[in-house]
Amino acid sequence: MKIHEYQAKEVLRKFGVPTPRGIACFSVDEAVEAGRKLGGNVWVVKAQIHAGGRGKGGGVKLARSEEELRAHAGTILGMQLVTHQTGPAGQTVRRLLVEEGADIRQEYYVGMVVDRVSQRVVLMASAEGGMDIEEVAANSPEKIHKVAIDPFAGLSDAHADEVARKIGIAHSALPQARTLLQDLYRAFDGTDASLAEINPMILTGQGSVLALDAKMNFDDNALYRHPEIAALRDLDEEDPAEIEASKHDLSYIQLQGDIGCLVNGAGLAMATMDIIKFYGGAPANFLDVGGGATAERVTEAFKIMLRNPELKAILVNIFGGIMKCDVIATALVEAARQVSLKVPLVVRLEGTNVELGKTILAQSGLATIAAANMADAAQKVIAAAKGQ
Ligand code: GDP
Ligand code: MN
Repeated sequence: MKIHEYQAKEVLRKFGVPTPRGIACFSVDEAVEAGRKLGGNVWVVKAQIHAGGRGKGGGVKLARSEEELRAHAGTILGMQLVTHQTGPAGQTVRRLLVEEGADIRQEYYVGMVVDRVSQRVVLMASAEGGMDIEEVAANSPEKIHKVAIDPFAGLSDAHADEVARKIGIAHSALPQARTLLQDLYRAFDGTDASLAEINPMILTGQGSVLALDAKMNFDDNALYRHPEIAALRDLDEEDPAEIEASKHDLSYIQLQGDIGCLVNGAGLAMATMDIIKFYGGAPANFLDVGGGATAERVTEAFKIMLRNPELKAILVNIFGGIMKCDVIATALVEAARQVSLKVPLVVRLEGTNVELGKTILAQSGLATIAAANMADAAQKVIAAAKGQ
């Protein structure tokens, strides 16, 4: 699960990480009021969306007067912000963060992720902080310094200092940087985060080290342990089809292709996507209807897939194990009738009662294209999507 920058900063502050003072706002008037409450004469108005790259997209602006603050808040709030992480459609800005302006002397990159290879949380840091860390990672990976953190000992002083020195933190700021990194790790560990990123971490003109930006993602499977984090979920930022799917206990992930996949079991769903790719097609979604594929759930699954305007054909790939093929065939016929399918439907059934299932499909009058196996199914659905 993702959260907004202002929420991530609240979480980090609880663990001692220093951030600029700021107030989250939902209207232009609230933003102006926030500026007054914060005081000072420079503020930053920041779009709150679940995507990075806001600065380059025009979603982060400095204001040097109340009029400017009002103007920036008016421009950013409600805008369709396009960044390299939102996709071309962008994301509507519904929340703002107004912060006291920081006097930036130096920008660094600091991040933590779960690294599957070392099976540890890895701290990454770079002197090349600011807006283009993806470019640094791609073109000069040697500028990103890493240490794997021991889960029992936590982030040691020695490791924290080593990384801080490598990114060029001055001796005088070393104790502050060390504490920030250690607090960041405690926040990561204490909330079951999967990612925590501070880009930029800054050194101010006054010599303090601050988290100027903050991004945190959390392990969904551990959210039950953190109701206060789960409460930060913002459904406006999530894909409506994915939210609808989760209500019906369907695992659905929207993708960029044109071939809808309805499959039972996550492993089979992955294999189905692989084989479509192998034959040159592109899946429109990942969809696991799970073990209990009732007519009701299959109907919901069809409805969710059909919301996608790119959809050109559907492949139903079911292995009848505990769930028998005849039950699934019946559910399929009923569901297809309810949603009045307008795209070609390729069906591959295998497993318990497969012959009975095929008979039900054949006698239903439903225009399905039967496939003998996975390779056959993939080739047929790709051809169907092309109108062949
Ligand atoms: P992102 O583009 O979505 O990662 O948003 P950030 O929060 O990282 O902001 C982008 C950039 O805006 C930062 O790298 C800073 O250079 C600049 N910025 C953000 N806050 C301030 C501030 O308080 N003062 C100044 N001068 N620049 C800021
Ligand atoms: Mn940033």
